Amino acid sequence: MDWAGTAIDYGCFAPLNVFLRVFEEKGVHITYLQAREPMGLPKMDHIKAILNMPEVKLKFQMVHGRDWDSNDLSVMYQSFEKYLFSSLRDFTDPIPGVPETMEILRKRGIKIGSTTGYTQKMMDVVRPEAMAKGYVTDNLVTPDGLPAGRPAPYMIYRNMIELAIPSVDQVVKVGDTIADIKEGVNAKAHTVGVIIGSNEMGLTESDFNLLSSDRKKSLMEEVRNRMLRAGAHGVIDTISELPDYIDQLSDGKSTGNYLLLTPGPLSTARTVREAMLQDWCTWDKDYNEEIVTPIRQKLLELARVDAREYTTILLQGSGTYCVEASIGSTVKPSDKLLIVSNGAYGQRIGTIASYYRLNYEMISISETEPVTGEIVREALEAHKDVTHVAMVHCETTTGILNRLEEVGEVVKEYPVTFIVDAMSSFGGIPIDMKACGIDVLVSSANKCIQGVPGFGFILVSKDKLPACKGNARSLSLDVYDQWETMEKGNGKWRFTSPTHVVRAFHQALVDLEREGGVEARYKRYRENNAVLYEGMKTLGFTPLLPRETQSPIITSFLYPSANFDFQGFYDSLKQKGFVIYPGKISDADTFRIGNIGDVNPDDMGRLLYAIHETPY
Ligand SMILES: *Cc1c(COP(=O)(O)O)cnc(C)c1O
Repeated sequence: MDWAGTAIDYGCFAPLNVFLRVFEEKGVHITYLQAREPMGLPKMDHIKAILNMPEVKLKFQMVHGRDWDSNDLSVMYQSFEKYLFSSLRDFTDPIPGVPETMEILRKRGIKIGSTTGYTQKMMDVVRPEAMAKGYVTDNLVTPDGLPAGRPAPYMIYRNMIELAIPSVDQVVKVGDTIADIKEGVNAKAHTVGVIIGSNEMGLTESDFNLLSSDRKKSLMEEVRNRMLRAGAHGVIDTISELPDYIDQLSDGKSTGNYLLLTPGPLSTARTVREAMLQDWCTWDKDYNEEIVTPIRQKLLELARVDAREYTTILLQGSGTYCVEASIGSTVKPSDKLLIVSNGAYGQRIGTIASYYRLNYEMISISETEPVTGEIVREALEAHKDVTHVAMVHCETTTGILNRLEEVGEVVKEYPVTFIVDAMSSFGGIPIDMKACGIDVLVSSANKCIQGVPGFGFILVSKDKLPACKGNARSLSLDVYDQWETMEKGNGKWRFTSPTHVVRAFHQALVDLEREGGVEARYKRYRENNAVLYEGMKTLGFTPLLPRETQSPIITSFLYPSANFDFQGFYDSLKQKGFVIYPGKISDADTFRIGNIGDVNPDDMGRLLYAIHETPY
């Protein structure tokens, strides 16, 4: 917790008149707005920041015939201290709701640390006064003795030491100034701005209450945006919202609606959704070089391949757009495409091939049998003119996991290009692209990487890329052209890129790393799936597939009886906070439950309980 403007001194007025007075003494008039802007910094830095404002600097020169120097600064600071001390006591009233909120948090086992722009000597006046009025913290750190005050993170870290907090992931920083927000961001703590009573609002309680509700709303919106632009992860209207806010953070789930147990879009983490609260410029290097380029590199890393041999293309649209772009850009009319399919997504590759009037062979096997090396070898032997092989890794239709490594071994023996739709598995099941002999791998933002929908990506071996040049029969789905623009433009997209979605995806990759990478995610998904698979059996449901071919992504269950009312079952679960998925398979009545996304075995357990409570 910050002090003035956040916990006490509504509107952060204590230092304000003092700054004006100190500058007045130097013959330099400053405005409230100028005095407020650096609020939150240590007071010496604050005076310096005002002195360095171009208009103030100029006024000082005009009055004194020279620039301000360190002597001026120290004289000004001395009078600042003197005046502040004489009035400080009068600005220690808690902001409404603060003492009660601290009590609620404390009851939940949350410790209240605090940081400030005041010195220890100032706080020796403020703290006991505030305490007497009901505002009590568990710890106080001032900038004294630290390498720097705000926006440096040291005060937060010292609080962590003194309160024995083992990880910054367990810290929420709350403040009312831009310097506060930056302090939290620099500490890598989850940072929350509070609007009402803040320095950023800069009004007394009575002035604020006198405003019309429209004016209130628009002012609050301005403050909210300023805080978000400074990097705040969240902004709340009043401190009383903090306990609920923290609650939602700790379970990290979508709030207000339901958990999506579907194979994309899926339940995303709050961090990912919050990453979308800022706007980005598509052609600025902030975006291209710091968001798009790292994404392209990271995806290669996830596929365990080297940037010298493979490259990434990001493309607008859903996953199917990328599958179509890959087929349309790699397969020439003179080529022959072999598709080995055991579900709707394999069939869709065939539909794409027909649209493009490609020469292709569709080998359709049973939806409950996996695609194996042997099946593909047989097909390649029967069709010697095949130049491209396409398959789906995890067939989301049923949830069956096809034998990618095995097929890869076979395909490597033939002079063919291997295209894999790894849409619903990439990022959630380890894939070594090179070891599997994959030339083109397709996936999208809203599957196992746990981003939101809006674009997909194609990983391509650089050997195969030149052959794509001039091959596409669709401008917007031209993989080579998109690659060339991204490569030459350091991450630039052709046409408008889905900036917010891309920023969220960047966050999702950071979160994936934090979870422990693809291996850790794979482990979580397998645990989720085991709880679901075995638990549903216990409840009397029959999974469509045996455990051996079942993927850890999504599971199909047979209808429990001939007169099973899926819609009723679905609606009832939705009301309990879970959205499941209808079946897609042709020759049996099934429904599906996904277990990818920001969900864990406990969520699966809660789902099982909800199903147990639902008539079926
Ligand atoms: C989700 C998915 C796709 C792409 O579907 P879109 O709706 O276009 O995003 C393709 N293949 C598989 C295996 C999938 O799971």
